[in-house]
Amino acid sequence: MKTYRNLTTELKRNFIEDSINYLKFAGKNKDFSVPVESLKNYEIEIPKPGDDIPKKTENILEKEYKSKIEDSNIVRDTGSISLIREDWMDSDKMTVLDEKINKCAKCPLHKTRTNFVFGTGSHDSDVMLIGEAPGSEEDIHGKPFVGRAGKLLTDILKAINFTRDEVFICNILKCRPPENRNPLPEEIVKCEPYLMKQIELIRPRFILCLGTFAGQTMLRAREPLGKMRGKIFNFKYSDVNAKLMVTYHPAALLRNPNWKRPTWEDVQLFRKEYDKEKKN
Ligand code: SF4
Repeated sequence: MKTYRNLTTELKRNFIEDSINYLKFAGKNKDFSVPVESLKNYEIEIPKPGDDIPKKTENILEKEYKSKIEDSNIVRDTGSISLIREDWMDSDKMTVLDEKINKCAKCPLHKTRTNFVFGTGSHDSDVMLIGEAPGSEEDIHGKPFVGRAGKLLTDILKAINFTRDEVFICNILKCRPPENRNPLPEEIVKCEPYLMKQIELIRPRFILCLGTFAGQTMLRAREPLGKMRGKIFNFKYSDVNAKLMVTYHPAALLRNPNWKRPTWEDVQLFRKEYDKEKKN
């Protein structure tokens, strides 16, 4: 079996591959590819199936991961949902939970919603994506992340080799705030227990929070997004232990394309962490 001649060559190859993937992800040119001939100009060996990855490269990546892992565990209490026993709390399946809560009228948002948005995707996925609240398209269709932001999220997932069906996607709030305003604290308090029940039933090992509100709610933090992103948190709730990351909301990326680069770095790290855990 062939081994790469030196580390520099491997790092160059990684750099070129990452750059190509980023350009695809950023939507600059969906058919972007580098001709083999031009790679030769960079003295890059073209990898073949079965080629060894040098140990040194793995060590460098390992060091990079460790520097991103937060020491503190985020432990979420169950107090707010266990004070008063309600019927939905005993749901043992996601479909049952959906049936029991989709007529919810605990906060004023039920008066203005068109549809309750439970979430979509696999009910036994290792990966959960959590956004803030349904927007107008989501409210109409009763599904999270549809429309332009939803399409971008699908592309982001595709770029890191996930499909929407493989993961579970939902929001902190299940009903749309009027005019897409930010969720109010009292709405989050009323609705969040449903999300925690979803987490309890799905038992994800990886959680990606999309946007400031999702990150702050899950981490019980007040930090701006820039301080929460790029890190891996250990999240514990009930008997769920998950790696949790925060990144930009796709709608924010549509408003500010400069945030595509940090988002790309975050989701790549998320995928690498996922692959690393799966290998062990
Ligand atoms: S937002 Fe949540 S708490 Fe408010 S009515 Fe909808 S489901 Fe109930």
